[in-house]
Amino acid sequence: MKIRFWGVRGSIAAPGPDTAVYGGNTSCYEVRNAAGDLAILDAGTGIRAFGMSLLGKGKVKASILISHTHWDHIQGFPFFVPAFIPGNELSLYAPVQFEKTLQQIIAQQMDYSVFPVRSAELLAEIRYHNLPEGPFAIPGFSGFAKFVCHPVTTAGYRLEADDKSVVYTGDHERFFDQVHKNMPADQIDPDEQEAVAAMVDMQNAQMAKFCRNADVLIADSMYLDKEYPTKMGWGHSTVEMNIRLAIEAGVKHLVLSHHDPLRKDADLDGIATYARQLLDESGGQGIALSIAREGLVIEL
Ligand SMILES: [Zn+2]
Ligand SMILES: [Zn+2]
Repeated sequence: MKIRFWGVRGSIAAPGPDTAVYGGNTSCYEVRNAAGDLAILDAGTGIRAFGMSLLGKGKVKASILISHTHWDHIQGFPFFVPAFIPGNELSLYAPVQFEKTLQQIIAQQMDYSVFPVRSAELLAEIRYHNLPEGPFAIPGFSGFAKFVCHPVTTAGYRLEADDKSVVYTGDHERFFDQVHKNMPADQIDPDEQEAVAAMVDMQNAQMAKFCRNADVLIADSMYLDKEYPTKMGWGHSTVEMNIRLAIEAGVKHLVLSHHDPLRKDADLDGIATYARQLLDESGGQGIALSIAREGLVIEL
């Protein structure tokens, strides 16, 4: 299995001299099995350059797994040139939404009022799939979709091929008690609070199970614990949360990604040093660590 990183930024593209090393494009990861079958995790702005790299190399057949339909995860799709070429076959997957289908959301993103080409005019053969939680199969990979904690239905994906596995969290926050978060203390029923706490623990245990023994875990690590109090409920995890998750789940290689657009290259260099130290001090000496950057390739 081979993973190439095309976009590692969260929320919005952040180009410029301060982000040139790690890159400013939003989420997009290329995953290939040994036979060359192609899965693409998210279609953020990073997918544009990836699409250009595929030109002139024959028919493109790909499964595009969208973690969720926030802009930073779909915004590159209208600029993915292989979607405009007849004969290419693209299967798009996203978790089932309550209000709209994936096809409707992509069509909305390419509505004539905001984009010159309508999705119906794309010349590749495009299939849209709304994924429920659970196992699924795509050409070359067996997969599992796990719904995670984020302000819209969001799936993390586990892909397995050639006895190797990669887990991509999508945007995720460690599960927490959302019911009592803003409730005045005198209105809290202790029994109910305890019941919710037990459910939250179970959800976090399921997340660890989903990541169990993964060869690579690509995790949304937008914040640090010290920044988290004002970001709680925004749907993103911290570097420290993902370090604890990786250790608990026995992950072999942790990749911190979905960087805050405010993070400069120097900030991410500092996070690399800090995260390595924290892993070593916390029993994660055997876990490899990378800070996601455009152009990074991990071969398994
Ligand atoms: Zn995002
Ligand atoms: Zn999001």
